[in-house]
Amino acid sequence: MLFATIGGAALAKGVVEKFSQPATASETVLNPTPEHIDYYPPFEKWNDWREPDGNYWKLKGGSQRGGVKLINYMLVPTVCNNCEAACGLTAWVDKDAMVVRKFMGNPFHSGSRGRNCAKGYATQSQMYDPDRIPFPLKRAPGSKRGEGKWVRTTWDEALETIGKKIREALEKGSELERKMVMYHVGRPNESGGFTARVVWTWGGDHHNSHTNICSAGGRLGSISWTGDDRTSPDFANSRLIFLSSSHAADAGHYFQQHAGYIADARAKGAKLVVMDPRLSNSAGMADLWIPVWPGTEGAIFLALSNRLLQEDRYNREFVERWFNWKPL
Ligand code: SF4
Repeated sequence: MLFATIGGAALAKGVVEKFSQPATASETVLNPTPEHIDYYPPFEKWNDWREPDGNYWKLKGGSQRGGVKLINYMLVPTVCNNCEAACGLTAWVDKDAMVVRKFMGNPFHSGSRGRNCAKGYATQSQMYDPDRIPFPLKRAPGSKRGEGKWVRTTWDEALETIGKKIREALEKGSELERKMVMYHVGRPNESGGFTARVVWTWGGDHHNSHTNICSAGGRLGSISWTGDDRTSPDFANSRLIFLSSSHAADAGHYFQQHAGYIADARAKGAKLVVMDPRLSNSAGMADLWIPVWPGTEGAIFLALSNRLLQEDRYNREFVERWFNWKPL
């Protein structure tokens, strides 16, 4: 309530009103009103870009109304690591305080083109989260498991302790204890597969990754017919986009980048067809939603293929070239 009152007062006669008067970017250099949704500071000004501090009016109980504080930014290109889509980001570094005030998209990134999902912008919270653990911890001496009491330790001690336990389990443990050694990593490709090979030398199936429980099924299907486990269709230049139990607008690999390209294609007139038992976000935006019974997609594809073949309504040259399949 207090916040609303302060906010309401500021909106009525404070800095927001005062500095939102210029109508277009060309009328001011302080707080340009975006003329387009893809508005972004011009690249030649990334080293020295000034913007008002959006939180300034809240300081001192909202008494700073009527004033404005400019932040002197340097925009540093970086990459989001919150999923493996690896969208481009820009870190907005406050040059006076030398802290990152916010992350925005990078309009020059060829995949994400400045469009990021909420997790990308939330990178700033990760950096300065008070609960972030920036060094190894061990259970406080004398405390029990579950008590949540920890003391700081060194990387050397942490690695020595864990390495010793792994060695003991592998060399002296029972079969069950040997199997209990598990190495889990979020992104196995980041080490080029090296870490997995090291773990395999321990003599068992100890390596586990995010992929095992996420996209392995989808990747296997893709790799078996395209030779690539993560396909990126040319959505932007498609005239008909057919998603089969795929939620390109809300989930999956590169969903955020794919969603942008699908939106571009639809703006040019492409139609979107989604076959999915669930009314997903993607299905909700489709021109045609085919709500199949779960698990029956394969049968529908066979029926479609059969009809295309029977009625000779397919591109022979295309299937011969791209699928190495010669119709009889
Ligand atoms: S899709 Fe979102 S979380 Fe994934 S890399 Fe892009 S901005 Fe980050």
